[in-house]
Amino acid sequence: MRFVVTAGPTREAIDPVRFISNRSSGKMGYAIAEAALAHGDEVTLISGPASIAPPRGAKFISITTSDELYDAVHRAVRACDVLVMCAAVSDYKPAASAPQKMMKRNAPFALRLIATRDILTSLPREQRRYLVVGFAAETHDLETNARLKLMKKNCDLIIANDVSGKDSGMESDENEVEIFFRNGEMKKISRAPKKNIARELVKIISKMLEKSLTKKS
Ligand code: C5P
Repeated sequence: MRFVVTAGPTREAIDPVRFISNRSSGKMGYAIAEAALAHGDEVTLISGPASIAPPRGAKFISITTSDELYDAVHRAVRACDVLVMCAAVSDYKPAASAPQKMMKRNAPFALRLIATRDILTSLPREQRRYLVVGFAAETHDLETNARLKLMKKNCDLIIANDVSGKDSGMESDENEVEIFFRNGEMKKISRAPKKNIARELVKIISKMLEKSLTKKS
């Protein structure tokens, strides 16, 4: 099977030396890429700035901004069986990025932000030839928000994690996830190293892929 995995944060420039980003380390996405490779799958890993080495054997595409990620995903899904959208894409970007370093000001000032394009929502909805796996990092109302994103973002499944604590989710080596399926089912993977969670996720995704391929043939 051909996996496209996105990972890490995006950076949205304020000026040539400053940007808006988030705490994503890329660990979960890289672990999924590694688990898929170990499972014998072909992997394209599209990653924002992260400080870990990409797994050997993956086709690696480096991006910085949400617009670059948007283009890279649209190109990569033309030849894939599953898209795992693990990247923590910035939801906002500066309305304009200053061409020169902004001078220090002594008075408060406001930065005008605009929404970035939502990559998952932009993918074709009808007759898609690949599965789409979304992520939902939540600090509250995890189940409600995850189920809403599953439908709104037209995913085949959503992997949700609670990022309100210090020791799981973003930056951590461990995670604890709940997986929501379109038929209303939910599966929980309790706290474990991200590498173990990734192996479980690849197993679940592969089973779904096999089912969808048997349906088509
Ligand atoms: O809305 P939220 O950012 O919580 O959604 C999370 C999911 O949506 C993740 O799978 C993320 O990769 C994806 N996303 C996207 N385009 C954006 C923002 C998030 O595809 N602009």
